[in-house]
Amino acid sequence: MTEKVMPEKKACRSCDAPIYWVHIVKKDGKPGRMPFDVEPAPNGTHRLVGRMGTFNNKPVMDLHATFVPFPEREEMIKAGVRLRLSHFATCPDAEQHRRGS
Ligand SMILES: [Zn+2]
Repeated sequence: MTEKVMPEKKACRSCDAPIYWVHIVKKDGKPGRMPFDVEPAPNGTHRLVGRMGTFNNKPVMDLHATFVPFPEREEMIKAGVRLRLSHFATCPDAEQHRRGS
């Protein structure tokens, strides 16, 4: 029996929305992690791709985000790719995140 491994969902600490912690490459080229909304958005900016890995000998799905420039977004959406937004863009408490509280 093969178990389907899904990326781990978390809840935003401020608004309780379901989020994924996603690996990204920051503008300075360094790796980091950012929260993304679990729900795809019609105006999403990033494509999330799952990669299998292991954690404590258990299979895990790591998500990696790639920024999609605007002209390519329409093509991807037409092809059925679901794009997502950073939770920093949608969180009603985003101001608090930015203040770092
Ligand atoms: Zn939130």
